[in-house]
Amino acid sequence: MKLKNLNGKVVLITGAGSGIGRATALLSARRGATLVLCDRDEAGLNETAAAARAVGVDVLVKTADVSDPASMDAFADAVHARFDAVDVLINNAGIGVWCGLLDTLPEDWDRQLAVNVKGVVHGCERFLPRMIERGRGGHVVNVSSAAGYMPSPAMSSYSVTKFAVFGLSQALRMEMRRHKIGVTASCPGPTNTPIVRTGPVRGADAEERADNVVGFFQRTAARPEQVAKTVLRAVARNRAVAPAGLEAHVMYYASRISPPVGRWLSVRWSAMANKG
Ligand code: NAP
Repeated sequence: MKLKNLNGKVVLITGAGSGIGRATALLSARRGATLVLCDRDEAGLNETAAAARAVGVDVLVKTADVSDPASMDAFADAVHARFDAVDVLINNAGIGVWCGLLDTLPEDWDRQLAVNVKGVVHGCERFLPRMIERGRGGHVVNVSSAAGYMPSPAMSSYSVTKFAVFGLSQALRMEMRRHKIGVTASCPGPTNTPIVRTGPVRGADAEERADNVVGFFQRTAARPEQVAKTVLRAVARNRAVAPAGLEAHVMYYASRISPPVGRWLSVRWSAMANKG
């Protein structure tokens, strides 16, 4: 099913208090969608909601932690008390850790798996059954990453979680086809959002590398508004995979046509980011 017109449609976005989630919420609002937004960051969430309401659309907001099943149950109850089902579910909330495998701490694994992987699963489990039951189709976007099809040695554990989201989205797309629910793996390349500053950097010279990475992203990365456009285009065209930005496109085609070239590029790109 191709959801070309969002006017009057209910679009749910997790992690909507910042970055790509906020940009996607505001673009959806400008296209007439009714919004359902959650984030664990209440202040950021309220800022997004106020900006969306200023566009003139209806917004339901709730603070929720996507990694916590009870928190997501409460969120889903609030949503379904108001709407039979959502039309578009965007599982966007995510976190990152900037380092290779050997510098990754056990808690980095736990946290990233809980938010990036289980968070997406929790969203699908809570909102898809109502979409299916209603029988009018819909769309799910799971935000993976270019690191979900071409791993980065600068973000090994993050890449693992984004490969999981990519695989989950492909399987879910096949599973949901008979219900006329499309599923997209959104795969942004480097995007200049607060995640670059909030995600811990580990390993040698971590402080210096953290500054370098922020500077590198500020100079070279895409804007979240550009990613938001690719997300809504993927919904309109029912795309399976939606790379966003030049690096993501280059890595996508390299991963399909010549993985060794993709890996070479990924090593170079990681080194450049670490050096600023
Ligand atoms: P962002 O600006 O940090 O936004 C992510 C939002 O999600 C933040 O408000 C964050 O709150 C929230 N969040 C984190 N954990 C949560 C949880 N457990 N429950 C609810 N909300 C939570 O980052 P972004 O760059 O827009 O990232 C959005 C998605 O794009 C993520 O899945 C990320 O992995 C993916 N992505 C980003 C890039 C990039 O270069 N920026 C590239 C590819 C993919 P806090 O501020 O409290 O953490």
